[in-house]
Amino acid sequence: MKHTIKHSVLGLALLSSVGFTQSTNAQNNSTQKPNIIVFLVDDMGWQETSVPFHTEKTPLNERFHTPNMERLANNGMRFTQAYASAVCSPSRVSLITGTNPARHGVTCWTLFKGKSPERNHKTLKRADWNVNGLTTQQGVPHSFCWEQTLPNVLKQAGYYTMHIGKAHFGAIDTPGADPINIGFDLNIGGHAAGGPGSYHGDKDFSAKWRKGWPVWDVPGLGQYHGKAINLTEALTLEANKAIEQSVKNKKPFFLHMAHYGVHAPWEPDRRFVQKYLDAGLDTLLANHASMIESMDKSLGDIMQKLKELKIDQQTIILFISDNGAPSQMTRNRPLRGHKITPYEGGIRVPMIVKWPGESNCTGTTDQPVLIQDVYPTVIQWAGATQHMPNIEDNQSIVPIIRHKTQKTRSLIWHYPNFYDVEPFSVIRKKDWKLIYRYNDNHFELYNLKNDISERNDLAKREPKRVKKLAKELTQYLKRVKAHRPFKGTNPASWPDETIKQ
Ligand code: CA
Repeated sequence: MKHTIKHSVLGLALLSSVGFTQSTNAQNNSTQKPNIIVFLVDDMGWQETSVPFHTEKTPLNERFHTPNMERLANNGMRFTQAYASAVCSPSRVSLITGTNPARHGVTCWTLFKGKSPERNHKTLKRADWNVNGLTTQQGVPHSFCWEQTLPNVLKQAGYYTMHIGKAHFGAIDTPGADPINIGFDLNIGGHAAGGPGSYHGDKDFSAKWRKGWPVWDVPGLGQYHGKAINLTEALTLEANKAIEQSVKNKKPFFLHMAHYGVHAPWEPDRRFVQKYLDAGLDTLLANHASMIESMDKSLGDIMQKLKELKIDQQTIILFISDNGAPSQMTRNRPLRGHKITPYEGGIRVPMIVKWPGESNCTGTTDQPVLIQDVYPTVIQWAGATQHMPNIEDNQSIVPIIRHKTQKTRSLIWHYPNFYDVEPFSVIRKKDWKLIYRYNDNHFELYNLKNDISERNDLAKREPKRVKKLAKELTQYLKRVKAHRPFKGTNPASWPDETIKQ
């Protein structure tokens, strides 16, 4: 089923403009628009950094070395309750469209046209989800059509829009496979696939070494083939070249710096791996830790380039990951679960914002935010709210930064798929989190304030709360025409249909 949304427009008066101090650099003086970098890491868990996002420093914070994230956090604001979807494509489509996966229907990861990665299930049949991903063109079957993507809106506001790294927005042989077709002026290294063939230039960034399909081979970047360079480094060099060019062109830029790292395959960054081996980690975990440090070096190199170009004071950086760490990695403790699960370890991610010129963008906030909130936030920073569709799925984080608070809302996740885990929907309202499973109509209820590790299921003790939350969750899912798996020929029950009235 294809969703097409008619766009309404937010009044200009709703959101105030973003002020910036005058720069000595020629860039932007006429418009005063900030440059904006969304630094999106892949599969990086909440704890996989030396920046603490928990109330205390943990052993995982000690394992990882991310000095540039520390610098970013010291010069910006840390979000300790930032959320994404539990898996790649849904998060990426949400970030770029501002919509919830329940609405956009790209609820699992995409790759092959018309094909879901789900295997057969013992009792359920597949939901009719948007297996072909995102498109801006009408008439592409099983895809989410959304013209006002983030780069398209920013282009309307005079921005040069750059995608560098992993795209993973649309299936092979559909328009959305190419970031240019969803609004970017420049694409380096992005296509349909959600992981690289290799991180090593001397393997041509290809999957040949592991006898993998050529669909994983990173496109372009031929100038680095055969060389001892890491993919994360190559993408960073390309990003800095593109930033320089944008400054020369005297245009504000939007950089979607979407690293393949730290997604599988977990290959070492040879510059960093030895110290993790020396610290006693096994090969897999040492490789992974070196990939985290590689990503962090990229952040540092880009920040250094901004300084050299004298645009660091007029460039906003938003750092976020697209889902929690996968099961092969660090298990996200103290969080429960991992990538693809509905627990906090699957969905809670590190997030930092550096907003020069905004004196309140400092310290730490525990206000919950969602990856689709990046969309209205970036549009507000760009002064382009007149081009933004008005939908209930997102909220700008600017009020949190400026006033440390925003309108309370319920957060919703929707994964009607059975790739790796049973299909689920989740609602979080204040500290309460309800998980519903479509295969057996089972509920779990947690109080995150007292139980961040989700060990104490209160569903049986709190039937009224379960019922109320299930009703609100169902109302939203119905409103946005969310997909459901099937039991026989009928759709599986909505959450509130399974509770006795
Ligand atoms: Ca991911």
